[in-house]
Amino acid sequence: MKKINPEIKIIDESKIFNLLEKSKQPDDSEINSILTKARELNGLNLSEVAALLNITAPNHLEQLFQTAHYVKDTIYGKRLVLFAPLYTSNYCANNCLYCGFRADNRDVHRKSLAPDEIEEETLAILEQGHKRILMLMGEDHRECNLDLFYKQIDKVYSVCDIKGSQIRRINVEIQPLSEEEFQVLKDIKIGTYTVFQETYHRNTYKMMHPTGKKSNYDWRIQVMDRALANGMHDVGIGVLFGLYDYRFEVLAMIMHAEHLEQNYGCGPHTISVPRVKPAKNAPASQNLQHQVDDLTFKKIVAILRCAVPYTGMILSTREPAWLRTELFDMGISQISAGSKTTPGGYKQAFNFDFEDAQFSLNDCRTSGEVIKSVIEQGYIPSFCTACYRLGRVGADFMDLAKPGLIKLFCLPNSLTTLMEYLVDYADENTKKIGLELIEREITEIPTENIRNKTREFLAKIEQGSKDLYL
Ligand code: SAM
Ligand code: SF4
Repeated sequence: MKKINPEIKIIDESKIFNLLEKSKQPDDSEINSILTKARELNGLNLSEVAALLNITAPNHLEQLFQTAHYVKDTIYGKRLVLFAPLYTSNYCANNCLYCGFRADNRDVHRKSLAPDEIEEETLAILEQGHKRILMLMGEDHRECNLDLFYKQIDKVYSVCDIKGSQIRRINVEIQPLSEEEFQVLKDIKIGTYTVFQETYHRNTYKMMHPTGKKSNYDWRIQVMDRALANGMHDVGIGVLFGLYDYRFEVLAMIMHAEHLEQNYGCGPHTISVPRVKPAKNAPASQNLQHQVDDLTFKKIVAILRCAVPYTGMILSTREPAWLRTELFDMGISQISAGSKTTPGGYKQAFNFDFEDAQFSLNDCRTSGEVIKSVIEQGYIPSFCTACYRLGRVGADFMDLAKPGLIKLFCLPNSLTTLMEYLVDYADENTKKIGLELIEREITEIPTENIRNKTREFLAKIEQGSKDLYL
Protein backbone atom coordinates (compact mmCIF):
# COMPACT_ATOMS: atom_id res chain seq x y z
CA MET A 1 0.00 0.00 0.00
CA LYS A 2 1.26 3.47 -0.83
CA LYS A 3 0.29 6.30 1.52
CA ILE A 4 0.10 9.67 -0.19
CA ASN A 5 1.30 12.88 1.40
CA PRO A 6 -1.79 14.47 3.01
CA GLU A 7 -0.20 17.91 2.56
CA ILE A 8 -0.22 17.50 -1.23
CA LYS A 9 -1.45 20.66 -2.98
CA ILE A 10 -3.40 20.12 -6.16
CA ILE A 11 -5.34 23.32 -6.77
CA ASP A 12 -3.54 26.65 -6.63
CA GLU A 13 -6.46 29.05 -6.24
CA SER A 14 -4.39 32.21 -6.43
CA LYS A 15 -2.81 31.05 -9.70
CA ILE A 16 -6.28 30.52 -11.13
CA PHE A 17 -7.54 33.90 -9.95
CA ASN A 18 -4.43 35.54 -11.41
CA LEU A 19 -4.98 33.86 -14.74
CA LEU A 20 -8.60 34.96 -14.76
CA GLU A 21 -7.69 38.50 -13.86
CA LYS A 22 -4.93 38.79 -16.45
CA SER A 23 -6.70 37.09 -19.32
CA LYS A 24 -8.89 39.45 -21.25
CA GLN A 25 -11.14 39.02 -24.24
CA PRO A 26 -8.68 37.54 -26.77
CA ASP A 27 -8.44 39.21 -30.19
CA ASP A 28 -8.87 37.46 -33.55
CA SER A 29 -5.23 36.54 -33.96
CA GLU A 30 -4.90 35.13 -30.44
CA ILE A 31 -8.01 33.00 -30.91
CA ASN A 32 -6.71 31.79 -34.26
CA SER A 33 -3.39 30.74 -32.84
CA ILE A 34 -4.96 28.90 -29.86
CA LEU A 35 -7.45 27.08 -32.07
CA THR A 36 -4.74 26.20 -34.59
CA LYS A 37 -2.80 24.64 -31.73
CA ALA A 38 -5.91 22.74 -30.60
CA ARG A 39 -6.15 21.21 -34.08
CA GLU A 40 -2.71 19.67 -33.56
CA LEU A 41 -4.42 17.46 -30.90
CA ASN A 42 -1.81 18.04 -28.21
CA GLY A 43 -4.11 19.89 -25.81
CA LEU A 44 -3.96 23.42 -24.42
CA ASN A 45 -2.27 24.98 -21.42
CA LEU A 46 -3.98 26.90 -18.61
CA SER A 47 -3.41 30.38 -20.09
CA GLU A 48 -4.85 29.27 -23.42
CA VAL A 49 -7.88 27.79 -21.69
CA ALA A 50 -8.29 31.00 -19.65
CA ALA A 51 -8.28 33.03 -22.87
CA LEU A 52 -10.93 30.82 -24.50
CA LEU A 53 -13.12 31.02 -21.40
CA ASN A 54 -13.41 34.77 -22.03
CA ILE A 55 -14.78 34.61 -25.54
CA THR A 56 -18.38 35.65 -26.07
CA ALA A 57 -18.69 36.95 -29.65
CA PRO A 58 -20.86 34.66 -31.82
CA ASN A 59 -18.20 34.36 -34.56
CA HIS A 60 -15.52 33.39 -32.02
CA LEU A 61 -17.81 30.85 -30.40
CA GLU A 62 -18.57 29.39 -33.82
CA GLN A 63 -14.83 29.04 -34.51
CA LEU A 64 -14.39 27.31 -31.16
CA PHE A 65 -17.28 24.91 -31.82
CA GLN A 66 -15.92 24.01 -35.24
CA THR A 67 -12.49 23.32 -33.78
CA ALA A 68 -13.96 21.12 -31.04
CA HIS A 69 -15.93 19.25 -33.70
CA TYR A 70 -12.74 18.72 -35.71
CA VAL A 71 -10.89 17.38 -32.64
CA LYS A 72 -13.78 15.11 -31.72
CA ASP A 73 -14.19 13.76 -35.22
CA THR A 74 -10.47 13.21 -35.80
CA ILE A 75 -9.93 11.32 -32.56
CA TYR A 76 -13.22 9.56 -31.91
CA GLY A 77 -14.78 9.38 -35.36
CA LYS A 78 -18.49 8.73 -35.26
CA ARG A 79 -18.59 6.52 -32.16
CA LEU A 80 -20.64 7.40 -29.12
CA VAL A 81 -20.33 5.06 -26.14
CA LEU A 82 -23.55 4.28 -24.25
CA PHE A 83 -24.15 3.27 -20.64
CA ALA A 84 -26.85 3.22 -17.97
CA PRO A 85 -26.50 4.23 -14.31
CA LEU A 86 -27.57 1.75 -11.63
CA TYR A 87 -28.34 3.28 -8.24
CA THR A 88 -27.96 0.55 -5.62
CA SER A 89 -28.82 2.65 -2.55
CA ASN A 90 -30.00 6.15 -1.74
CA TYR A 91 -29.14 6.12 1.96
CA CYS A 92 -26.71 8.92 2.68
CA ALA A 93 -25.16 10.36 5.81
CA ASN A 94 -23.85 13.44 3.97
CA ASN A 95 -25.75 16.62 3.54
CA CYS A 96 -24.80 18.08 0.16
CA LEU A 97 -27.13 21.05 -0.15
CA TYR A 98 -27.89 20.38 -3.83
CA CYS A 99 -28.75 16.67 -3.58
CA GLY A 100 -32.12 14.97 -3.07
CA PHE A 101 -30.46 12.09 -1.21
CA ARG A 102 -29.01 14.34 1.50
CA ALA A 103 -29.48 13.10 5.05
CA ASP A 104 -31.74 16.01 6.04
CA ASN A 105 -34.25 15.23 3.30
CA ARG A 106 -36.73 13.30 5.40
CA ASP A 107 -39.29 13.10 2.58
CA VAL A 108 -37.36 10.75 0.32
CA HIS A 109 -38.08 7.00 0.44
CA ARG A 110 -34.83 5.18 1.24
CA LYS A 111 -33.79 1.83 -0.15
CA SER A 112 -30.72 -0.41 -0.53
CA LEU A 113 -31.26 -3.08 -3.15
CA ALA A 114 -31.28 -6.72 -2.05
CA PRO A 115 -29.64 -9.33 -4.33
CA ASP A 116 -32.90 -10.31 -6.08
CA GLU A 117 -33.67 -6.62 -6.66
CA ILE A 118 -30.22 -6.11 -8.15
CA GLU A 119 -30.95 -9.02 -10.46
CA GLU A 120 -34.26 -7.48 -11.57
CA GLU A 121 -32.65 -4.11 -12.23
CA THR A 122 -29.83 -5.72 -14.20
CA LEU A 123 -32.31 -7.65 -16.35
CA ALA A 124 -34.27 -4.46 -17.02
CA ILE A 125 -31.06 -2.67 -18.06
CA LEU A 126 -29.95 -5.58 -20.27
CA GLU A 127 -33.36 -5.52 -21.94
CA GLN A 128 -32.55 -2.00 -23.12
CA GLY A 129 -29.44 -3.33 -24.84
CA HIS A 130 -26.84 -1.96 -22.42
CA LYS A 131 -23.58 -3.82 -21.73
CA ARG A 132 -21.89 -1.15 -19.64
CA ILE A 133 -23.22 0.34 -16.44
CA LEU A 134 -22.21 2.89 -13.85
CA MET A 135 -23.00 1.77 -10.28
CA LEU A 136 -23.63 4.49 -7.72
CA MET A 137 -24.76 4.86 -4.13
CA GLY A 138 -24.93 7.39 -1.33
CA GLU A 139 -22.39 7.35 1.50
CA ASP A 140 -23.76 5.62 4.56
CA HIS A 141 -21.62 3.02 6.25
CA ARG A 142 -24.54 1.39 8.05
CA GLU A 143 -26.97 1.03 5.16
CA CYS A 144 -24.77 0.68 2.08
CA ASN A 145 -21.23 -0.29 3.02
CA LEU A 146 -18.47 -1.30 0.63
CA ASP A 147 -18.77 -5.05 1.30
CA LEU A 148 -22.40 -4.93 0.32
CA PHE A 149 -21.56 -2.85 -2.76
CA TYR A 150 -18.91 -5.34 -3.91
CA LYS A 151 -21.41 -8.19 -3.50
CA GLN A 152 -23.83 -6.18 -5.63
CA ILE A 153 -21.12 -5.86 -8.31
CA ASP A 154 -20.64 -9.65 -8.33
CA LYS A 155 -24.38 -10.11 -8.56
CA VAL A 156 -24.69 -7.78 -11.57
CA TYR A 157 -21.93 -9.62 -13.47
CA SER A 158 -23.61 -12.96 -12.76
CA VAL A 159 -26.96 -12.03 -14.35
CA CYS A 160 -27.70 -13.34 -17.84
CA ASP A 161 -30.87 -12.45 -19.79
CA ILE A 162 -32.90 -14.63 -22.19
CA LYS A 163 -30.77 -13.47 -25.13
CA GLY A 164 -27.66 -14.70 -23.33
CA SER A 165 -26.41 -11.14 -22.72
CA GLN A 166 -24.55 -9.99 -19.63
CA ILE A 167 -23.16 -6.73 -18.30
CA ARG A 168 -19.53 -6.60 -19.45
CA ARG A 169 -18.17 -3.51 -17.77
CA ILE A 170 -19.11 -1.87 -14.48
CA ASN A 171 -17.79 1.58 -13.70
CA VAL A 172 -18.35 2.91 -10.20
CA GLU A 173 -19.10 6.30 -8.71
CA ILE A 174 -18.96 6.09 -4.94
CA GLN A 175 -17.45 7.97 -2.04
CA PRO A 176 -13.69 8.69 -1.88
CA LEU A 177 -11.89 5.60 -0.61
CA SER A 178 -8.80 5.28 1.59
CA GLU A 179 -5.51 3.74 0.43
CA GLU A 180 -6.47 0.50 2.21
CA GLU A 181 -9.86 0.43 0.50
CA PHE A 182 -8.27 0.93 -2.93
CA GLN A 183 -6.06 -2.09 -2.25
CA VAL A 184 -9.32 -4.08 -2.13
CA LEU A 185 -11.07 -2.31 -5.00
CA LYS A 186 -8.13 -2.76 -7.38
CA ASP A 187 -8.78 -6.53 -7.41
CA ILE A 188 -12.49 -6.15 -8.07
CA LYS A 189 -13.55 -6.24 -11.68
CA ILE A 190 -14.40 -2.61 -12.36
CA GLY A 191 -13.56 -0.22 -15.17
CA THR A 192 -13.39 3.43 -14.16
CA TYR A 193 -13.54 4.76 -10.60
CA THR A 194 -15.23 8.16 -10.61
CA VAL A 195 -15.63 10.90 -8.03
CA PHE A 196 -16.77 14.43 -8.87
CA GLN A 197 -15.09 17.17 -6.90
CA GLU A 198 -18.42 19.04 -7.24
CA THR A 199 -16.66 22.39 -6.79
CA TYR A 200 -12.92 23.01 -6.71
CA HIS A 201 -13.46 26.30 -4.87
CA ARG A 202 -12.65 25.59 -1.23
CA ASN A 203 -15.03 28.08 0.40
CA THR A 204 -17.94 27.14 -1.81
CA TYR A 205 -17.18 23.48 -1.13
CA LYS A 206 -17.35 24.17 2.60
CA MET A 207 -20.69 25.92 2.25
CA MET A 208 -22.23 23.19 0.08
CA HIS A 209 -21.11 20.29 2.29
CA PRO A 210 -21.86 21.39 5.84
CA THR A 211 -21.71 18.00 7.60
CA GLY A 212 -20.73 14.38 7.07
CA LYS A 213 -17.54 12.85 5.74
CA LYS A 214 -17.90 14.73 2.49
CA SER A 215 -17.34 18.05 4.26
CA ASN A 216 -13.57 17.37 4.08
CA TYR A 217 -12.35 19.07 0.85
CA ASP A 218 -8.84 17.63 1.03
CA TRP A 219 -10.03 14.07 1.53
CA ARG A 220 -12.10 14.40 -1.62
CA ILE A 221 -9.61 16.15 -3.86
CA GLN A 222 -6.79 13.78 -2.97
CA VAL A 223 -8.85 10.70 -3.80
CA MET A 224 -7.43 10.20 -7.30
CA ASP A 225 -3.89 10.37 -5.92
CA ARG A 226 -4.78 7.62 -3.45
CA ALA A 227 -6.45 5.65 -6.27
CA LEU A 228 -3.63 5.88 -8.82
CA ALA A 229 -0.95 5.26 -6.20
CA ASN A 230 -2.78 2.10 -5.14
CA GLY A 231 -3.42 0.13 -8.28
CA MET A 232 -6.35 1.84 -9.97
CA HIS A 233 -5.79 2.56 -13.67
CA ASP A 234 -8.74 4.55 -14.97
CA VAL A 235 -10.23 7.38 -12.95
CA GLY A 236 -12.98 9.86 -13.76
CA ILE A 237 -13.32 13.40 -12.46
CA GLY A 238 -16.03 16.04 -12.75
CA VAL A 239 -17.44 19.37 -11.67
CA LEU A 240 -21.05 19.99 -10.76
CA PHE A 241 -21.54 23.16 -12.79
CA GLY A 242 -23.68 25.83 -11.15
CA LEU A 243 -22.13 25.84 -7.68
CA TYR A 244 -19.38 28.36 -8.46
CA ASP A 245 -17.95 30.45 -11.36
CA TYR A 246 -17.55 28.06 -14.30
CA ARG A 247 -14.33 29.74 -15.44
CA PHE A 248 -12.66 28.92 -12.13
CA GLU A 249 -14.01 25.36 -12.21
CA VAL A 250 -12.77 24.61 -15.75
CA LEU A 251 -9.26 25.88 -14.98
CA ALA A 252 -9.17 23.96 -11.71
CA MET A 253 -10.31 20.76 -13.40
CA ILE A 254 -7.55 21.10 -16.02
CA MET A 255 -5.10 21.78 -13.18
CA HIS A 256 -6.28 18.57 -11.49
CA ALA A 257 -5.84 16.63 -14.75
CA GLU A 258 -2.32 18.06 -15.21
CA HIS A 259 -1.43 17.10 -11.64
CA LEU A 260 -2.47 13.48 -12.24
CA GLU A 261 -0.66 13.31 -15.57
CA GLN A 262 2.56 14.72 -14.08
CA ASN A 263 2.53 12.46 -11.04
CA TYR A 264 1.12 9.20 -12.37
CA GLY A 265 1.90 9.34 -16.10
CA CYS A 266 -1.76 9.40 -17.03
CA GLY A 267 -4.51 11.97 -16.64
CA PRO A 268 -8.16 11.18 -15.97
CA HIS A 269 -9.78 8.60 -18.24
CA THR A 270 -13.00 10.61 -18.27
CA ILE A 271 -14.34 14.03 -17.39
CA SER A 272 -18.02 14.48 -16.55
CA VAL A 273 -19.89 17.74 -16.96
CA PRO A 274 -23.07 17.57 -14.86
CA ARG A 275 -25.05 20.77 -14.29
CA VAL A 276 -27.08 21.21 -11.10
CA LYS A 277 -30.75 20.30 -11.63
CA PRO A 278 -33.66 20.86 -9.26
CA ALA A 279 -33.99 18.34 -6.44
CA LYS A 280 -36.52 18.13 -3.63
CA ASN A 281 -35.53 19.64 -0.27
CA ALA A 282 -32.15 20.59 -1.73
CA PRO A 283 -31.91 24.38 -1.33
CA ALA A 284 -28.72 24.77 -3.38
CA SER A 285 -30.35 23.14 -6.40
CA GLN A 286 -32.71 26.10 -6.89
CA ASN A 287 -32.09 29.78 -7.80
CA LEU A 288 -28.42 29.26 -8.49
CA GLN A 289 -26.22 32.31 -8.45
CA HIS A 290 -23.71 30.64 -10.77
CA GLN A 291 -26.14 28.91 -13.11
CA VAL A 292 -24.53 28.01 -16.42
CA ASP A 293 -26.74 28.81 -19.42
CA ASP A 294 -26.94 26.52 -22.44
CA LEU A 295 -24.61 28.51 -24.69
CA THR A 296 -21.99 28.76 -21.96
CA PHE A 297 -22.38 25.04 -21.35
CA LYS A 298 -21.60 24.36 -25.01
CA LYS A 299 -18.55 26.59 -24.69
CA ILE A 300 -17.35 24.63 -21.65
CA VAL A 301 -17.68 21.30 -23.46
CA ALA A 302 -15.92 22.65 -26.56
CA ILE A 303 -13.03 24.13 -24.54
CA LEU A 304 -12.54 20.90 -22.60
CA ARG A 305 -12.50 18.90 -25.84
CA CYS A 306 -9.73 21.16 -27.19
CA ALA A 307 -7.79 21.19 -23.90
CA VAL A 308 -7.77 17.43 -23.13
CA PRO A 309 -8.44 15.82 -26.51
CA TYR A 310 -7.89 12.19 -25.49
CA THR A 311 -9.96 12.25 -22.31
CA GLY A 312 -13.44 10.77 -22.69
CA MET A 313 -16.19 13.26 -21.94
CA ILE A 314 -19.44 12.07 -20.36
CA LEU A 315 -22.89 13.65 -20.62
CA SER A 316 -25.86 12.41 -18.63
CA THR A 317 -29.62 12.57 -19.06
CA ARG A 318 -29.64 15.65 -16.82
CA GLU A 319 -29.54 17.54 -20.13
CA PRO A 320 -32.43 17.74 -22.61
CA ALA A 321 -32.39 15.69 -25.81
CA TRP A 322 -31.88 18.66 -28.18
CA LEU A 323 -28.83 19.90 -26.27
CA ARG A 324 -27.31 16.43 -25.96
CA THR A 325 -27.63 16.06 -29.71
CA GLU A 326 -25.72 19.30 -30.29
CA LEU A 327 -23.06 18.43 -27.74
CA PHE A 328 -22.08 15.19 -29.52
CA ASP A 329 -20.53 17.43 -32.18
CA MET A 330 -18.72 19.55 -29.58
CA GLY A 331 -16.83 16.71 -27.96
CA ILE A 332 -19.01 14.43 -25.86
CA SER A 333 -17.88 10.82 -26.33
CA GLN A 334 -20.01 8.90 -23.79
CA ILE A 335 -23.68 9.26 -22.85
CA SER A 336 -26.10 7.61 -20.50
CA ALA A 337 -29.48 6.61 -21.91
CA GLY A 338 -32.82 5.56 -20.43
CA SER A 339 -31.50 6.46 -16.96
CA LYS A 340 -33.30 6.08 -13.64
CA THR A 341 -31.88 7.74 -10.54
CA THR A 342 -33.83 5.91 -7.85
CA PRO A 343 -32.86 2.45 -6.55
CA GLY A 344 -35.23 0.01 -8.25
CA GLY A 345 -36.15 2.65 -10.85
CA TYR A 346 -35.80 0.47 -13.97
CA LYS A 347 -38.15 -2.20 -12.75
CA GLN A 348 -40.30 0.42 -10.99
CA ALA A 349 -40.27 -2.09 -8.18
CA PHE A 350 -41.24 0.35 -5.44
CA ASN A 351 -43.81 3.09 -5.22
CA PHE A 352 -41.25 5.84 -5.68
CA ASP A 353 -42.28 8.95 -7.53
CA PHE A 354 -40.20 11.49 -9.40
CA GLU A 355 -39.63 13.45 -6.19
CA ASP A 356 -37.65 10.48 -4.84
CA ALA A 357 -35.05 10.94 -7.57
CA GLN A 358 -31.64 12.33 -6.71
CA PHE A 359 -32.37 15.23 -9.09
CA SER A 360 -34.68 15.84 -12.04
CA LEU A 361 -33.81 14.50 -15.47
CA ASN A 362 -34.39 16.25 -18.77
CA ASP A 363 -33.84 13.51 -21.34
CA CYS A 364 -36.50 10.99 -20.38
CA ARG A 365 -36.51 9.05 -23.66
CA THR A 366 -36.12 5.28 -23.54
CA SER A 367 -32.74 3.84 -24.50
CA GLY A 368 -34.33 2.59 -27.73
CA GLU A 369 -35.41 6.11 -28.64
CA VAL A 370 -31.99 7.56 -27.82
CA ILE A 371 -30.21 4.86 -29.85
CA LYS A 372 -32.46 5.45 -32.86
CA SER A 373 -31.89 9.18 -32.79
CA VAL A 374 -28.11 8.72 -32.39
CA ILE A 375 -28.12 6.55 -35.53
CA GLU A 376 -30.26 9.09 -37.39
CA GLN A 377 -27.69 11.74 -36.50
CA GLY A 378 -24.99 9.60 -38.14
CA TYR A 379 -23.29 8.53 -34.91
CA ILE A 380 -22.58 4.89 -34.04
CA PRO A 381 -24.03 3.87 -30.66
CA SER A 382 -21.21 1.75 -29.24
CA PHE A 383 -21.61 -0.84 -26.49
CA CYS A 384 -17.95 -1.76 -26.64
CA THR A 385 -16.11 -2.86 -23.50
CA ALA A 386 -13.06 -4.39 -25.20
CA CYS A 387 -10.22 -2.15 -24.00
CA TYR A 388 -10.81 -2.70 -20.35
CA ARG A 389 -11.27 -6.44 -20.81
CA LEU A 390 -8.05 -6.70 -22.81
CA GLY A 391 -6.12 -4.65 -20.27
CA ARG A 392 -5.85 -1.60 -22.54
CA VAL A 393 -6.18 0.77 -19.56
CA GLY A 394 -4.46 3.76 -17.99
CA ALA A 395 -1.43 5.05 -19.92
CA ASP A 396 -1.65 2.11 -22.37
CA PHE A 397 -5.13 3.24 -23.36
CA MET A 398 -3.98 6.83 -23.80
CA ASP A 399 -1.16 5.67 -26.10
CA LEU A 400 -3.65 3.67 -28.06
CA ALA A 401 -6.07 6.53 -28.30
CA LYS A 402 -4.05 8.20 -31.03
CA PRO A 403 -6.25 8.95 -34.03
CA GLY A 404 -5.32 6.11 -36.39
CA LEU A 405 -5.44 3.48 -33.69
CA ILE A 406 -8.94 4.27 -32.50
CA LYS A 407 -10.14 3.63 -36.04
CA LEU A 408 -8.38 0.23 -36.01
CA PHE A 409 -9.91 -1.05 -32.77
CA CYS A 410 -12.74 1.09 -31.49
CA LEU A 411 -14.53 1.58 -34.80
CA PRO A 412 -14.78 -2.17 -35.61
CA ASN A 413 -15.83 -2.91 -32.03
CA SER A 414 -18.50 -0.23 -32.13
CA LEU A 415 -19.90 -1.86 -35.29
CA THR A 416 -19.91 -5.39 -33.88
CA THR A 417 -21.57 -4.30 -30.63
CA LEU A 418 -24.13 -2.26 -32.53
CA MET A 419 -24.87 -5.34 -34.65
CA GLU A 420 -25.44 -7.34 -31.47
CA TYR A 421 -27.89 -4.69 -30.30
CA LEU A 422 -29.72 -4.67 -33.63
CA VAL A 423 -30.05 -8.46 -33.69
CA ASP A 424 -31.15 -8.83 -30.06
CA TYR A 425 -33.06 -5.72 -29.01
CA ALA A 426 -33.88 -3.24 -31.81
CA ASP A 427 -37.25 -2.64 -33.45
CA GLU A 428 -37.50 -3.12 -37.22
CA ASN A 429 -37.01 0.52 -38.09
CA THR A 430 -33.92 0.95 -35.92
CA LYS A 431 -32.56 -2.28 -37.31
CA LYS A 432 -32.92 -1.04 -40.88
CA ILE A 433 -31.17 2.30 -40.32
CA GLY A 434 -28.59 0.63 -38.07
CA LEU A 435 -27.62 -1.89 -40.75
CA GLU A 436 -27.29 0.93 -43.30
CA LEU A 437 -25.02 2.81 -40.89
CA ILE A 438 -22.83 -0.27 -40.38
CA GLU A 439 -22.47 -0.69 -44.16
CA ARG A 440 -21.41 2.95 -44.52
CA GLU A 441 -19.03 3.04 -41.59
CA ILE A 442 -17.26 -0.23 -42.30
CA THR A 443 -15.59 1.45 -45.27
CA GLU A 444 -13.93 3.87 -42.80
CA ILE A 445 -11.84 1.06 -41.27
CA PRO A 446 -8.39 1.88 -42.60
CA THR A 447 -6.87 -1.54 -43.25
CA GLU A 448 -8.22 -4.30 -45.43
CA ASN A 449 -7.50 -7.17 -43.06
CA ILE A 450 -9.32 -5.52 -40.14
CA ARG A 451 -12.18 -4.59 -42.48
CA ASN A 452 -12.45 -8.23 -43.51
CA LYS A 453 -12.21 -9.47 -39.93
CA THR A 454 -14.99 -7.06 -38.95
CA ARG A 455 -17.21 -8.30 -41.80
CA GLU A 456 -16.57 -11.85 -40.65
CA PHE A 457 -17.54 -10.95 -37.05
CA LEU A 458 -20.66 -9.10 -38.21
CA ALA A 459 -21.82 -12.10 -40.23
CA LYS A 460 -21.27 -14.42 -37.27
CA ILE A 461 -23.19 -12.08 -34.95
CA GLU A 462 -26.11 -12.05 -37.40
CA GLN A 463 -26.08 -15.85 -37.09
CA GLY A 464 -26.25 -15.62 -33.28
CA SER A 465 -22.63 -15.33 -32.08
CA LYS A 466 -21.89 -12.84 -29.31
CA ASP A 467 -19.14 -10.74 -27.87
CA LEU A 468 -16.72 -10.71 -30.80
CA TYR A 469 -14.18 -7.91 -30.58
CA LEU A 470 -10.67 -6.81 -31.51
N1 SAM B 1 -22.65 9.80 -3.24
C1 SAM B 1 -21.44 9.74 -4.00
C2 SAM B 1 -20.82 11.10 -4.12
O1 SAM B 1 -21.45 12.08 -3.76
O2 SAM B 1 -19.69 11.16 -4.58
C3 SAM B 1 -21.72 9.12 -5.35
C4 SAM B 1 -22.20 10.00 -6.42
S1 SAM B 1 -23.75 10.78 -6.32
C5 SAM B 1 -24.85 9.43 -6.28
C6 SAM B 1 -23.69 11.33 -8.00
C7 SAM B 1 -23.45 12.76 -8.27
O3 SAM B 1 -24.70 13.37 -8.46
C8 SAM B 1 -22.79 13.66 -7.26
O4 SAM B 1 -21.40 13.56 -7.26
C9 SAM B 1 -23.27 15.04 -7.69
O5 SAM B 1 -22.34 15.70 -8.52
C10 SAM B 1 -24.49 14.74 -8.53
N2 SAM B 1 -25.67 15.48 -8.07
C11 SAM B 1 -26.14 15.54 -6.81
N3 SAM B 1 -27.20 16.38 -6.77
C12 SAM B 1 -27.40 16.87 -8.01
C13 SAM B 1 -28.32 17.79 -8.61
N4 SAM B 1 -29.26 18.40 -7.90
N5 SAM B 1 -28.23 18.03 -9.93
C14 SAM B 1 -27.30 17.42 -10.68
N6 SAM B 1 -26.39 16.55 -10.19
C15 SAM B 1 -26.44 16.28 -8.86
FE1 SF4 C 1 -24.95 11.79 -0.58
FE2 SF4 C 1 -23.61 11.91 -2.91
FE3 SF4 C 1 -26.01 13.07 -2.63
FE4 SF4 C 1 -23.97 14.09 -1.40
S1 SF4 C 1 -24.19 13.91 -3.65
S2 SF4 C 1 -25.98 13.76 -0.44
S3 SF4 C 1 -22.80 12.29 -0.87
S4 SF4 C 1 -25.57 10.91 -2.56
